[in-house]
Formats: sequence, structure tokens, C-alpha cells
Amino acid sequence: MSDAATAISIPHIRADLDGRVMAPGEPGYDEGRTVFYGGIDRRPAAIVRAANAADVSRVIAVARETGVELAIRSGGHSIPGHSTTEGGIVLDLRDLDTLEIDVESRTAWVGGGVTTGRYTKAAAEHGLATPFGDTGSVGISGLTLGGGVGYLVRKHGLTVDDLLAAEVVTADGKLLRADTDSHPDLFWALRGGGGNFGVATRLQLRLHEVDTVVGGMLILPATAETIYGFMAEAEGAPEELSAIANVMPAPPMPFLPAEQHGRLVIFAVLVYAGEAEAGERAVAPFRALAEPIADMLGPKRYPEVFVPGEEGFHPVASARTMYVDTVDRRAAEKIVEQLQASTAMMAAVQLRVLGGAAAMVPVDATAYAHRQSRIMVNIAAMFGSPDEAPVHEQWVAGLADAVRQDDRGAYVNFLGEEGQERIRAAYPGETWDRLVAVKRRYDPTNLFRLNQNIPPD
Ligand SMILES: Cc1cc2nc3c(=O)[nH]c(=O)nc-3n(C[C@H](O)[C@H](O)[C@H](O)COP(=O)(O)OP(=O)(O)OC[C@H]3O[C@@H](n4cnc5c(N)ncnc54)[C@H](O)[C@@H]3O)c2cc1C
Repeated sequence: MSDAATAISIPHIRADLDGRVMAPGEPGYDEGRTVFYGGIDRRPAAIVRAANAADVSRVIAVARETGVELAIRSGGHSIPGHSTTEGGIVLDLRDLDTLEIDVESRTAWVGGGVTTGRYTKAAAEHGLATPFGDTGSVGISGLTLGGGVGYLVRKHGLTVDDLLAAEVVTADGKLLRADTDSHPDLFWALRGGGGNFGVATRLQLRLHEVDTVVGGMLILPATAETIYGFMAEAEGAPEELSAIANVMPAPPMPFLPAEQHGRLVIFAVLVYAGEAEAGERAVAPFRALAEPIADMLGPKRYPEVFVPGEEGFHPVASARTMYVDTVDRRAAEKIVEQLQASTAMMAAVQLRVLGGAAAMVPVDATAYAHRQSRIMVNIAAMFGSPDEAPVHEQWVAGLADAVRQDDRGAYVNFLGEEGQERIRAAYPGETWDRLVAVKRRYDPTNLFRLNQNIPPD
């Protein structure tokens, strides 16, 4: 038994909480310690499913008094597996699942354990949306606290741009409300600084009118010309249009002709959030880049643009995230060349054109500071077993080196376990110093350290 496990008393925690506590071997324990990414096999001493903010505060007290490692879990999609721990406590927020939409004021209060997919579907019933990412199973808390970049980024900005308030339990166990008037320093830090400052039990978000959009999946053959052309079109498009393009071997999806499986494609999802006719005009140039392999673009309700996830999918992956100024022909050639050379089960380069509303917010307004970065690039290799990691790590690092330009920033939500220098790259210039000052104030002992950590000293 680990030191941490002996330091905490399960019966004592259980007696003190309204929510469920699961110890090793108990029902729900194995499900509770499983996170999205595969190859992460940690055994917490206890998994606590908090029922309310008071439970969160009590668990924080146990961590504070015993010194055990505390993992905060919302949607469980942390890329380095920060939402589980070896021998510590997992504070699982999935039961903080309230969702109250106020149609009149176009705002919502949402529990810290709600997924972005559930919220998106509920808001769409009123013709409303808040911008999140491309995957519905991702948690609202983890995504929002790091920034939140998705299909509405150019039209409506980042998720943090719509965060109006947060209720947060800090390291001293107090439940605070952070907004522009109350604890404004904390509110600034929460908008990009991740889980460093406390546990968000509820978030208040702004909603936008997003009803029928023109968008969906477009799959094109990937060549240097089509990749370069796609990016040029996406950069020149009106800001109503956001696109996420994955250059990857075509997956064996039933609607794709068998002869295409495994061939390099641009697997893109486009969203034009605006008037239908203008939307059709905006997506037309993408269709014209090459004979589409699949074209599902058209008017649809916003939640319908999301590609459904696969239940029980737990990929083992190596990845790099970066920003570039442009994907020119040379970069496009490198992408094609390197993807063809990968020996991974699946390799992909994901390209997201930024700008628009996200770039209109001043750089120092939130802890997410890469407002002027133009394109986000995520390079990923997925493979069968962690033993294969070294070869794929080398591949992702090599491709990152090949396409890197002057922008040395990083997006915290896509960082792996890459060291302090890369965490600092997520917080350029004065952003870092301001975050350290907020950390000193709200978490001086670094209780919340299992994250992309901003140490207080
Ligand atoms: C398949 C996939 C697709 C993705 N797509 C996008 C995308 O399109 N856009 C984008 O911006 N990001 C995307 N991401 C990245 C995602 O935003 C981050 O991985 C995020 O941290 C996941 O949040 P979560 O709540 O699911 O994760 P968790 O693993 O539960 O949490 C991650 C970390 O966030 C912190 N945290 C979570 N909840 C709280 C809370 N309530 N209070 C305080 N701290 C908390 C903790 O430090 C925790 O370790 C994607 C990730 C994956 C795996």
C-alpha cells in the first residue's frame, strides 16, 4: 500500500461526504480510474464522486492535511492523464451535473462535471450555443479553464470569452465566486490558466444564437496542393466560417469507399455560423479543391456537425501542439511526406485557422494569450502499446521541427507531459508573472499541482 493510501482513512472520508467513495477493488473503482487516453494505468487510493461543493471542500481538506496527490477529473480527457493519480485521490466531478439555461438572458449555469456535448445538445433546443471544441465527450471544465477552441472560434471566439462567472473551491476550502467584480484576478487566471487555482464547481457561460449552420464533414484527397489550398481558403474565408482539418489516412468508415481506406485525406469539418445562402457560397471553394471523397456539407442543426465518438475508444498517443503563421506549400509537402512515413496505427496532422472573434480580444484580457497566433497545428500518432512510444515520439517531434516557424507558443489544453519550458510557452510574456502572482494568492502551497503546473515560487 502506498504512503498516501495509509495516510488517508477511507471510512473517515466516506462518513464525511454526501457523494460516493470508491477504494481499490470496490464496484466502480476501475471505471472511475479509467481516463480517455489508453496506456495510463494509475491506481488511486480513493476515487471520490463529489455530490456538491461541500464535498469538494472536504476532499480538498483531506488532501491539504495529508499531502496526498489530488487529481481533478471532469471529462477525463487530459492529454497527459492529469485526471488520475498513482496512490492519491481522484476528485471526480461527473455528478456536478446541473445545467440551467436561461433563454431570456442567453446565459447558462452549468455544473463542473457536465460534458460539452450534453450542453451543446441542450442549448441547441433553444437555437443557442456556446463555443467549445470538436468532441462532445470533453468536459466543459477542463476545456474552458484552458481556453476552448472549436467550430465557432472565428465567429464567437474562445470558450473563455463567454465565461461570465465561476464558482471555485480554493485550496483553503472556501467557495468563491469569481467574475469581473468579485476576485477579478482569479477570474482572469481561470480563463486559460487551467486547474491551478481551485476546483470549479459551476460555470456561468454566455450563449449565442446559433441555430441552423451550413457545415459538416468534407473529405478530400490530401496532396500538398489540396492542403495548401484548403488552408488558403480557410484563412481567406469570412469569420462566420471555422474549420478543423485533419490530414490523415482515411479511416475505415462505412460511408467511405473501401479503396479509399488508408489513403491520405483531408478529413475536415466546416461550420459557417450565419445565413444559409452566404454559407453555401463560403463552403463552395473548399468543395472545388478536388473531387470530394465525401461531402456532407449543407444546412444542419449545429450539434449535427459533430462527428460521433466511439464508445470505449482509449487511444495510446504521442502528440505535439504548436502555432504557425501559415501552411505554405513547403509545409504541406512535409506533412504529406511525413504522414506517409509514419508507422503508427493512425497518424494525423490537425490544422485549425484562428483569427476572427478570438483575435479581437486584447492579449492581456485573459490568461489565454495567443490571440494573434494564426493557425493551430496538432500532430498526433496513435499506436497499440506504450512500449512503442519512443519511435512515435521521435516521429511527432520530427514533424513538429519540420513545420515550426517563428511562433513558439503552445496551447495548454493540447500539451502533453513536455516540461516546464513548454508550459511557459503557453503563457507568454507578462501572462506567466501574473499567473504566478494569482497562484501565490490562492494556492500558495501548490495543492493543485497535478496539472500543467504554475508553481507559486
Ligand atoms: C479527443 C479530444 C478532443 C479535444 N478537442 C479539443 C478541442 O476541439 N478544443 C479544445 O480547446 N480542446 C480540445 N481538447 C483538449 C481538452 O480541452 C483538454 O484535454 C481538457 O483539459 C479536457 O477537459 P476534461 O474536463 O475532459 O479533462 P479532465 O482530464 O477531466 O481534466 C483535465 C484537467 O483540467 C483541470 N480541471 C478539469 N476540471 C476542473 C475543474 N472543475 N476545476 C478545476 N480544474 C479542473 C484539471 O487540472 C484536470 O487535470 C481535446 C482533447 C481530446 C482528448
